[in-house]
Amino acid sequence: MAPVIGVTATLKEDIDQIADRPLGRFVRADLDYVEGVAHAGGVPVVLPPVGERRAAEAVIGGLDGLLLSGGSDLDPSYYGEKPLPELNVTLPERDAFEMALLGEALRRGIPIFGICRGLQVLNVALGGTLYQDLPSQLGRDILLHRQETPKWQATHEVEIHEGSWVGGITSSTCVKVNSYHHQGIKDLADGLRVSARSSDGVIEAIESHDFSERWLVGVQWHAEAMRDAGAEHRNLFEAHVQAAERHALRRAAA
Ligand code: MN
Repeated sequence: MAPVIGVTATLKEDIDQIADRPLGRFVRADLDYVEGVAHAGGVPVVLPPVGERRAAEAVIGGLDGLLLSGGSDLDPSYYGEKPLPELNVTLPERDAFEMALLGEALRRGIPIFGICRGLQVLNVALGGTLYQDLPSQLGRDILLHRQETPKWQATHEVEIHEGSWVGGITSSTCVKVNSYHHQGIKDLADGLRVSARSSDGVIEAIESHDFSERWLVGVQWHAEAMRDAGAEHRNLFEAHVQAAERHALRRAAA
């Protein structure tokens, strides 16, 4: 049986371009995440961010893995901070649903792969904190982490730590990545370790200490958009789906 991977989604207002009037609010997940899971052998299920705890508890039982997608800024109250002027739009329904979902997924040991916002949400759910805005808070020469070029183009490099799980998955010590974030990890959560940084010191990938206990990986770049650019990006999806498969087998045997 192929493992079922929940893919978090966002809510998006849509406008009728011709009539220039609102069409309504829609559940939206970038096809790159969905296809990334499917091409790696998983069965993607898009999870609308509604219903909070009730929905999280109901859907989690059917999931073998969880993919936390990118998106808007997380409300800083989740890590005990007040919003800075540079904070962007937040989406309360999505924050609440994903935090509830993550709580359940962590409790059940479901393999979790976080991308961009997903890495940040994972860190906060485990007790870490974020920079609300890298350029204004780091106050030194940092790289351009918010590129304007297309998503499949790499704009900076990340150095993968030797001996890390992410290093093993990507078979790389240096990966060229795209960059679409203005937030980043400030204090790393206890249950996580850094697996990659960019040359300015920004944390670009995280992982759990011991994959035999719990499988957690987060990357700050949009790996889903770079699957054609190199095997190292596809490998992340494949490793996640394989971990979900092992989790499903263990669960069936228990
Ligand atoms: Mn970056």
